[in-house]
Amino acid sequence: MRYVSTRGEAAELEFEDVLLEGLARDGGLYVPDAWPTLGEARRRELATRPYARVAAEVMWPFLSGNLERATFEGIVDAAYAGFRHEAVAPLVQLAPNLWVMELFHGPTLAFKDVAMQVLGRLFDHVLAARGDRMTIVGATSGDTGSAAIEAFRDRENCDIFILHPRGRTSDVQRKQMTTVNAANVHNVAIEGTFDDCQDLVKAMFNDAAFRDGVRMSGVNSINWARVMPQSVYYVTAAAQLGCFTDRRPVRFSVPTGNFGDVYAGYIAARMGVPASRLVVASNRNDILTRVLRDGDHSRGEVHATVSPSMDIQSSSNFERLLLDMEAGDTAKVARLMKQWKQTGAFTVDATARARLAGRFTGHRVDEEKTLDTIRSVYADTGYLLDPHTAVGHAAALAEAAPEHAEFGGIALPTVVLATAHPAKFPDAVEKACGVRPPLPGFLADLYEREERFDTLENELSVVQAYIRERTRAA
Ligand SMILES: *Cc1c(COP(=O)(O)O)cnc(C)c1O
Repeated sequence: MRYVSTRGEAAELEFEDVLLEGLARDGGLYVPDAWPTLGEARRRELATRPYARVAAEVMWPFLSGNLERATFEGIVDAAYAGFRHEAVAPLVQLAPNLWVMELFHGPTLAFKDVAMQVLGRLFDHVLAARGDRMTIVGATSGDTGSAAIEAFRDRENCDIFILHPRGRTSDVQRKQMTTVNAANVHNVAIEGTFDDCQDLVKAMFNDAAFRDGVRMSGVNSINWARVMPQSVYYVTAAAQLGCFTDRRPVRFSVPTGNFGDVYAGYIAARMGVPASRLVVASNRNDILTRVLRDGDHSRGEVHATVSPSMDIQSSSNFERLLLDMEAGDTAKVARLMKQWKQTGAFTVDATARARLAGRFTGHRVDEEKTLDTIRSVYADTGYLLDPHTAVGHAAALAEAAPEHAEFGGIALPTVVLATAHPAKFPDAVEKACGVRPPLPGFLADLYEREERFDTLENELSVVQAYIRERTRAA
């Protein structure tokens, strides 16, 4: 399998290099040059096999030619052994034809663990084989940082530096990062905002001498290897709902920020999950709803909401879908992305949108509706949704309204992706329904654990010196 850049100007790479590079050198994102399909015989077996086995099966064609199959299976087994539910991504039925898929049984209580646990191990394995080391640098407003730290802690060949804005993450999120006691983990609180942290990381990537000097890499969802493992749970859900045996179509409603998770659903569809529909659920930050409805891809102001991991008005992974909407025309994608950078807007025309019509729909869910959904689902079923999942739930129900009858109404089995455990966002949940969800047992003492982090001023040279002094990769 080879990978090409969405902008068509970077070298084609094999999986291992795509993993370590992340972003393509032309600024584009890597996508596979062909889509593998799940074999008919194999599909029928999927429902009866353990999650890790299905995961290795689904991902293997994307890596083949690079790792040994047995090695890869070992990596995948180890990645999911730490999940606190045997099914890894269990389905819980809330109503006829309506399920939530719980993706929060990993170490940091959010779905990002599903991919990150694989990614950390892949990095370490590939680097060990090459006798190399790397420095992972990332900025976080919350969930990504803790998932990355848990995935990279104690890895032989990687050091990880995560920048968070001092005093601007939730207590749970900060403590999940700063109480990890591992020599290769470095938490840095920056005197500034999340945007300042992100700008520092970008500046470090653009400083070739620094980047090469510390062998810097990143782990945000522009990395193909972050998106790929997420396609697996779309396959397991479809298999459990009988979609492969009865050819029943299924609809997934996905709380969306950077478009990584829902793009993984698209990968699964391309691989043969029958007629699956993907609902792109957004909070007030609705650029994706707009582009899917009428092609308006223009940056809006970023609003802070009760579902902070979706407060994004620039969804990097959308570029991957855009390539297919534009029928593989990389020059056109490069042009549109340039326009986006210069003006903060571009339009996806009707012909391009028609290529995916029926696959994606977008819904925007406001704050009141989000809290209302938490309240009413709890009242009706006793099940607690986190605010991100509530956005997905509300979007799924909006879709069942009569005006969307062409999308199958409620007759279509619908899976809402539960992207975080409610205890990760206890204030919003309590505000909505009066119940404060407790942290699961293994994190019950989180508030008593000792925190370790350094505070640095928002100054590139200071942060670079800090990293240079501490990384083992230099
Ligand atoms: C990251 C995140 C999302 C958004 O996922 P994308 O892949 O960026 O679209 C949704 N919910 C939670 C809880 C998250 O942490």
